[in-house]
Amino acid sequence: MAAFTVVPGRLTAKSPGVSVPHQVAFFDAPTSGASASPASTRFLQLGASSVALAALSGRSRSRHSRAARRAQPASLEEKRFPVLSRRDAPVGTFPKMPESVHPGVVSGKALVDLLNHAKENGYAIPAVNCVSSSSINACIEAARKMDAPIMIQFSAGGAQFYAGKGLDTWRPQDNTEFHAAIAGAVAGAYHARAVAEQYGVPVILHTDHCAKNLLPWFDGLLEADERFWAVRFIYVYNSKVSRDHEGYFERHGEPLFSSHMLDLSEEPLEENVEICVKYLERMAKINCGLEMELGITGGEEDGVNNEDANPEDLYSKPEEIYQVYDALSKVPNGFFTIAAAFGNVHGVYQPGNVKLEPTILDKAQKFISEKIGEPEGSKPVSFVFHGGSGSDIKDIREAVDYGVIKMNIDTDTQWSYWNGIRDFEAKYRDYLQTQIGNPDGKDKPNKKYYDPRACIRSAEDSTVKRMEQCFEDLRCVNVLGLGPPDTPKNVMGPRRGGLPS
Ligand SMILES: [Zn+2]
Repeated sequence: MAAFTVVPGRLTAKSPGVSVPHQVAFFDAPTSGASASPASTRFLQLGASSVALAALSGRSRSRHSRAARRAQPASLEEKRFPVLSRRDAPVGTFPKMPESVHPGVVSGKALVDLLNHAKENGYAIPAVNCVSSSSINACIEAARKMDAPIMIQFSAGGAQFYAGKGLDTWRPQDNTEFHAAIAGAVAGAYHARAVAEQYGVPVILHTDHCAKNLLPWFDGLLEADERFWAVRFIYVYNSKVSRDHEGYFERHGEPLFSSHMLDLSEEPLEENVEICVKYLERMAKINCGLEMELGITGGEEDGVNNEDANPEDLYSKPEEIYQVYDALSKVPNGFFTIAAAFGNVHGVYQPGNVKLEPTILDKAQKFISEKIGEPEGSKPVSFVFHGGSGSDIKDIREAVDYGVIKMNIDTDTQWSYWNGIRDFEAKYRDYLQTQIGNPDGKDKPNKKYYDPRACIRSAEDSTVKRMEQCFEDLRCVNVLGLGPPDTPKNVMGPRRGGLPS
């Protein structure tokens, strides 16, 4: 039996080889006593109003039956078809997590609870830029190994790659509104949804930097989120299709993605905030979170080059962060995180070129706590750390202590993926030059060496290993309480004559 077993109502760790932790003991993280941000409770408020709506319209019975269903484990049949099944979000909880957090893609209240759990317990969740189903699988595999949640995200370029680089050249006019990048992100999201629940860890689905010129991409993603919700709604009510979404949403809806990032940091702050507020108002209606950026992340990523940025712009000021916090907090039911600049740079450079100043985040937390009248030591803002590759572990941990709940990882996993392929090629070079003929004999076939699964798996293994270090750096280890995973038993191969794993 797998270590991860869903039993009615609760995920317990009763399976052989899994210990049941009776108390949550997190490393030696400081107990900050931080209270949740006001924004983080808003999903709950919406929940209350929909109870009222449901009662008014006589729908409380179905709400009850939903609660009953929530207490049931997902059947094996349902689990096999996570995106297609007619059911609510996957059930099952984790010994060390808030009850709303479940295996599979989390959104809405589960997302907020998970990120607040990270903030309160002094860890951050790694967010990896994925460009294929293979990179998604490697990330979730690493998360299961580390007994931790993970964030899967797509950049616009990565999403387009996911759909296929040939897509926009086939009929260029089809990609004027970023159709390929929208289709790729949706394809990746469906893939992640299909496998996340099987691996049994919470997965946050997110998209990365969206600058002003990419807003049509963002609009397309939001439309996909809204449709995903609508499709599920129609599933539940089957023949009784109603257009009255409001009352039903809190009970049945969730967006396709947990959250998206808007990066208008190149625009004047006023415009940045104004556009973020406008989008957050739309996203709040479907419980979708927003990550915004202010200041500039230096370096180069996904074709955006800030290598010549004005050094002053690489460091945000507490007043600016407050301005963003204040405006976004006013959006009803809005949930947001802030990527503030504290000297972070995309890419990996020679040591000494990057001067991280995590205390900027601490100063902002103190400044904002005072402004909004929260007690000393509060961490009202949920920060996001971009450009973390190659950072000093001391700076990373310090940033996490100051309220960073997510760190982006791209450059380091790009290298680890490639390095896995490089190692594989070096190891089997003499077997990879022709279809037939190698050092063992001139008529020996090389099929098992050039089968793409062999080098791709090597890339995945290498990435999983690199990711393990990321989880350690962010203190994101054993936070679910599942214990170590079992060795996969139902995986086919290696077949007769296959490569040793
Ligand atoms: Zn970034």
